[in-house]
Amino acid sequence: MSRTVYVNGEYLPEAQAKISIFDRGFLFADGIYEVSSVLDGKLLDNAAHLARMRRSLRELEMPSPATDEQIAAVQQELIARNDLHEGVVYLQITRGAADRDFAYPADAQPSLVMFTQARAIVDSPAARRGISVVSMQDIRWQRRDIKTVGLLAASMAKQAALNAGADDAWLVEDGLVTEGSSNNAYIVTADGVLVTRHLSNEILHGITRAAVLRLSREDNMTVEERAFSLDEAYAASEAFITSASTFVMPVVKIDDQVIGTGEPGPVSQRLRELYVDAARGDPPT
Ligand code: PMP
Repeated sequence: MSRTVYVNGEYLPEAQAKISIFDRGFLFADGIYEVSSVLDGKLLDNAAHLARMRRSLRELEMPSPATDEQIAAVQQELIARNDLHEGVVYLQITRGAADRDFAYPADAQPSLVMFTQARAIVDSPAARRGISVVSMQDIRWQRRDIKTVGLLAASMAKQAALNAGADDAWLVEDGLVTEGSSNNAYIVTADGVLVTRHLSNEILHGITRAAVLRLSREDNMTVEERAFSLDEAYAASEAFITSASTFVMPVVKIDDQVIGTGEPGPVSQRLRELYVDAARGDPPT
């Protein structure tokens, strides 16, 4: 079934949606994006996603083609037109089309593209089983806090993980885990402390990360925002990742090391439950 997508002011069947070959997103990866999840037909944490979108635009001195209100209205319209109950809404802004030149063009019209992807996020076999990750060097650039469409290093890492028979990659720099290929990384130490890397230019400031840390603290967990090594991760009692499209996803194997019992642990499961309950507006149990 063909989706309805949005391109620069128009709702179109996906096969008819087109962008110029001179678009700087295509030529320079000169664009930013956001992925907001949808549960029960409703956007989760969308204001935070739009705030991060504004920050990415600001860091790149990129003009915005629309206000937050206009973007949110298109997101809602796409959810309605595509009858999306569960999945994600993707949005991408690029600097627009201009004759190829490294300098930012003075007069390009920024481009705005949005589409939906239906996906079961809550009822996930991977979340019941837990996933495996392999570590590899983080070869990405030094502004990982900007959510740009320059995702080739992340895509290479994900593919290398799949080729190695794992589900995803954990990226390592100077002996310390930065994050997953498209998610934030966490461990629970043997004495029950939840550890995830502190915010800096070295990682994306995950919206799900912020929500999960808030829920952890509300649930009286001890949280440390600091870098951790692979050895510390191997010895952890639990590990997990977070992102808008996976929520809280347990990690049960890192390289050749089984984590904890090899099954999703109580902290990961509890946080996944708390996150889904909060998303649905249910009180914590
Ligand atoms: N880190 C990276 C590198 C990512 O690509 C993502 C997801 N886009 C995340 C973390 C998680 O961010 P969020 O929770 O906002 O989806």
